[in-house]
Amino acid sequence: MIIVLSSTASERNRDDVAANLKERGYGVHVSVGAEKTIIGVIGVGVEEKPGLSDQFEALPFVEKCLAVSAPYKLVGKNFRPGGTTITVGNVVIGGDTMVVMAGPCTVETPEMIIETAHTVKAMGAHILRGGAYKPSTSPYSFHGHGVPGLQMLADARTETGLPIITEVMDVRDVETVCEYADILQIGTRNAQNYNLLREVGMAKKPVMLKRGMSSKIEEWLQAAEYIVSQGNYEVMLCERGVRTFETYTRNTFDINAIPSIRELSHLPIIADPSHGTGKASLVPDVTVAAFAAGAHGAIIEVHPNPAKALKDGAQSLTPEAFETLMARLKKLAPAIGREL
Ligand code: PEP
Ligand code: MN
Repeated sequence: MIIVLSSTASERNRDDVAANLKERGYGVHVSVGAEKTIIGVIGVGVEEKPGLSDQFEALPFVEKCLAVSAPYKLVGKNFRPGGTTITVGNVVIGGDTMVVMAGPCTVETPEMIIETAHTVKAMGAHILRGGAYKPSTSPYSFHGHGVPGLQMLADARTETGLPIITEVMDVRDVETVCEYADILQIGTRNAQNYNLLREVGMAKKPVMLKRGMSSKIEEWLQAAEYIVSQGNYEVMLCERGVRTFETYTRNTFDINAIPSIRELSHLPIIADPSHGTGKASLVPDVTVAAFAAGAHGAIIEVHPNPAKALKDGAQSLTPEAFETLMARLKKLAPAIGREL
């Protein structure tokens, strides 16, 4: 960490800061410039940085404190340079494989989820998605079937063998959702719900953490650090688009985030072009782009009849469109040195 003293700081102020830091056991390196004095602090742990910055920035003669390394460590690339792989059933997420998760936004009826599961499986999907607890901007829209919805997903897994991913929204539901799900999804609206992040960090299930719709990459990684710091290292990140000035698409899918996460973290990165675009016509191209940019997986909304979907019909692929997309991905895989 670096502490920049303001130009009004006296020599006495400088020595006090240095003595204070040494007393706390840190190495101290003072550089006196023509205008400013900067103090390099050596040995500050990632856990200590926020508190230390706050304390020193409160001093009238300190201009600012700067962190020179990332505010996370367990999810950082250096922690596991080879990358993390997460095995769910016989699906491996991470490494050189391309994983496709597909299914409806919401589990609607037992028949529709089983039909969709069979359809996407036949087309090559590896994991079934579907929401039983649905976050919704309007308090009056459908919020999912809850536990009966989880049971419908579990039945679809029994029928098809596809592992299931589903969202958990509330700390109080984590235990129940864990009884059914193979992967817990944390949605964009809960991406900074730190109590929920800690709770799933104590769960014995892999977690897919979506990026908050206005989270910076660093904030997203810090959110992942909340989970991992509780002992659960089976975390994958999911880029699902962020809010920008653009209104033509529902969100702006941040393609930059994919190689950025690969550079910064060892956690697998999944793309969600459905929520990232909000338009079914754009989903296939953005999926291809995301894999080409290095995504380890994609999560795609597919509905047997999007026009009748209870949620997110406009961005849901028909089975035919999904089949065409899977054929494109099969061709793409060898060209980018990956396996579908
Ligand atoms: C979803 O996956 O259906 C969903 C609600 O996603 P997000 O949290 O990204 O909006
Ligand atoms: Mn959705």
